[in-house]
Amino acid sequence: MRISMVSEHASPLATLGGVDAGGQNVHVAALSRELAARGHTVTVFTRREDATLPDRVELCPGVEVVHVDAGPPERISKDELLPFMDVFADHLVEHWREETPDVVHSHFWMSGLAAEGAVRRLPRPVPVVHTFHALGTVKRRHQGLEDTSPAERAVLEPMVGTAADVVIATCSDEAFELKAMGVDTSHISVVPCGVDLDLFSPEGPTEPRGPKHRIMTVGRLVQRKGVGLTISALRQLVDEGRDDVELVVLGGSRPPGQVDEDADVQRLRTHARALGVEHLVTFRGQIRQADLPAALRSADVVVCAPWYEPFGIVPLEAMATGTPVVAAAVGGLIDSVVDGVTGVHVPPRDAEAIASALGALLDDPARLRRLGLAGHARTVSRYSWQRVARDTESVYDQLTGARSARSRRRKEAHS
Ligand code: UDP
Repeated sequence: MRISMVSEHASPLATLGGVDAGGQNVHVAALSRELAARGHTVTVFTRREDATLPDRVELCPGVEVVHVDAGPPERISKDELLPFMDVFADHLVEHWREETPDVVHSHFWMSGLAAEGAVRRLPRPVPVVHTFHALGTVKRRHQGLEDTSPAERAVLEPMVGTAADVVIATCSDEAFELKAMGVDTSHISVVPCGVDLDLFSPEGPTEPRGPKHRIMTVGRLVQRKGVGLTISALRQLVDEGRDDVELVVLGGSRPPGQVDEDADVQRLRTHARALGVEHLVTFRGQIRQADLPAALRSADVVVCAPWYEPFGIVPLEAMATGTPVVAAAVGGLIDSVVDGVTGVHVPPRDAEAIASALGALLDDPARLRRLGLAGHARTVSRYSWQRVARDTESVYDQLTGARSARSRRRKEAHS
């Protein structure tokens, strides 16, 4: 198949960890690679964020990234990109008239808008599969007036959902949200995100560490990721008499040498200082994916305490390296982390519950080991990108009739 991915703000080539660069970038890159490994040709259309970027870049054999001129060629918050989506759609039409894809897969609501707008202008129908990655309804529910999404999102997002031939929900919680948004359940398929099991595995180097129990968080440091809650939990652990713990925070918008300039680090440091635990917290800044497994292996436990989470790849990465997860029971973490088996679920926005879970786990190394082993086994059995690509391909096949055409050809060849 010729597959066109549309990912307006999240380039598969981006550096991860900043405000708008996380799971979606990883998802688009890994899914495209695996689809190419299965013999498909993938083109990823993403907005040009830098004037010096070439028009086309090969991500790997079979996957090409096309930089689309839509808006100024500089980094712009995704919440300010809506005005450029018409131009983005014009470019898609131009590309797709020259070479029409068999299937279009859009990522995030604005890409869906551009993709569906473009497909309507093509001479022949092309199916559109859409993955939201995050839903405006959920964001608004949790962030209220702090949600900086454009007001139009509330109207346009459901339109994207109902217009797509299939919406891929990355977890069961999202499927319920989509239904509530008006998407017909017969048009929803659940396919989770995955984890790179070659990179994230229990075997391999471990970062050196001191004698303290190491608690770790990884990811963007935006408020809803809940790193502040883990800092509050640390205070409670200290109050309970533990002076044998440290918190290592990976991620943020700055690389290691410039961590102090990150506004989110400043906010979290102020919080830690106010609680008197600043000396127990280390902010490391952005970390390359390649360096992450050794860091994760050095942790006793990884805390993922978001207010809400569309999917959450970090818990999978932790489990894949054999590190147990304390996770808020929200969104994708309800499916990926199994309470009492691969980690511990805590209620959202509950620092006390995080502290109790951590305290109990750190006192029980045998249980930590059991949870770690089970987490690794779960990622291997369910969350390889190979499996995600296979399941996504099945969705494409249903829409394009590719499977029936393939089996027809096979039958003809045998007769
Ligand atoms: N990530 C990274 N370096 C960082 C911070 C994050 O490589 O400094 C990666 C992380 O390993 C994961 C992704 O970014 O693969 C974050 O995805 P997730 O779904 O957990 O969160 P999102 O950012 O999409 O909300």
